Amino acid sequence: MKALRILRNYFFYCGIEKDEYNAIKKEAYISNFNVWKILHFLMAALFGALFISSLHYELLKTNTWLYMLSFAYSVIAIALFFILKKDSILAQFLIYLSISLLFLLGCVLSLSKPDLPAVSFIAFLLTTPMFMIDKPFFMAIELSVVSAVFLLWAHSVKPHDIWLIDFANVIPFAVVGIILNVIANSLRIKEFVLTREISIQKDTDDMTGLKNKGSLTREINRFLTDKSTDKGLLLVMDVDRFKSINDTYGHDAGDDVIRQLGGFLGRTFTQGEIVGRFGGDEFIAFIGNADDPDTACRIADGIVKGVSENVVLENGGQRISLSIGIAIYHGSEKNYSELFKKADIALYEAKADPENRYHLYNG
Ligand code: GH3
Ligand code: MG
Repeated sequence: MKALRILRNYFFYCGIEKDEYNAIKKEAYISNFNVWKILHFLMAALFGALFISSLHYELLKTNTWLYMLSFAYSVIAIALFFILKKDSILAQFLIYLSISLLFLLGCVLSLSKPDLPAVSFIAFLLTTPMFMIDKPFFMAIELSVVSAVFLLWAHSVKPHDIWLIDFANVIPFAVVGIILNVIANSLRIKEFVLTREISIQKDTDDMTGLKNKGSLTREINRFLTDKSTDKGLLLVMDVDRFKSINDTYGHDAGDDVIRQLGGFLGRTFTQGEIVGRFGGDEFIAFIGNADDPDTACRIADGIVKGVSENVVLENGGQRISLSIGIAIYHGSEKNYSELFKKADIALYEAKADPENRYHLYNG
């Protein structure tokens, strides 16, 4: 059973588990898109050169039309590659269409010289799958179908003894092509998984699983430089008297409070807001497409109440409170630190105000 599962994973998910495969599938498709875009430029150059040469050299004359059509197809495909979305079904279809047409070309080129073994077709069998990351199962079907088509076609065109040589070559080369595709896919897909894991780790705060300072800064800056939107709320939150919690109950209890707080904020902001731990006992939430003071106060009020109900010190049962500074973004601040300074001033005011746990910046 285990061997079957491993085999299934290699053929359907490039040697990793289904969930992992689905998580990086889009990136793999985009990589295919980029590789095949470059390949089409090379194809256009090659077929263009062959077409022009075939007008002058007797040896190539029989294939003039073929080269011209292949050149025209490559140019049209390049244009489509500029129009299509990188991970769209149509882009994937175009890539498979190109692979199939290359095989067809390999067939025609080989069959135009029926007395010679099918070298160009076999070359395509071995090389084409290398440029593709997808379920190797699809490439196994592709290679099996084109091999069968070629052998049937060649049977009626080639002398029988040459066809037998082709038969003896095409079958093992198709199998080798499938195996190479499985190996190449599993190696390349593992690279995607590793890159993704590194990038997640780089952006994640270990203790809470929320975004870390670097990731928060980058994402908020990206939002502020996005010309299509000029509304947002920045909330800077800081636990009250956290040092005394550490001193009284120990550092582990302090860590537990930070984890609980992270969990609470993660459960509260689930609509694509940018939420994370800035460092120490300070947390940040950036809510896009809202710039109304009432909304800001309602959200802050909800957090203050939610924290006092949900975050508790295990040993003492004591409630935790935090203060919040809010800055409203109307499109004037150009970077994160300009907006942060305002929220930080508001936080300072909130800390100093025993009556209110949150303040709006009103500079
Ligand atoms: P205030 O009400 O003014 O915010 O006072 P405070 O005591 O909370 O002071 P402040 O926010 O400046 O101090 C944060 C403290 O958090 C300082 C540091 O010892 C502690 N700290 C920073 N990182 C960690 C951590 O990862 N775990 C624990 N347990 N404590 C941390
Ligand atoms: Mg504090």
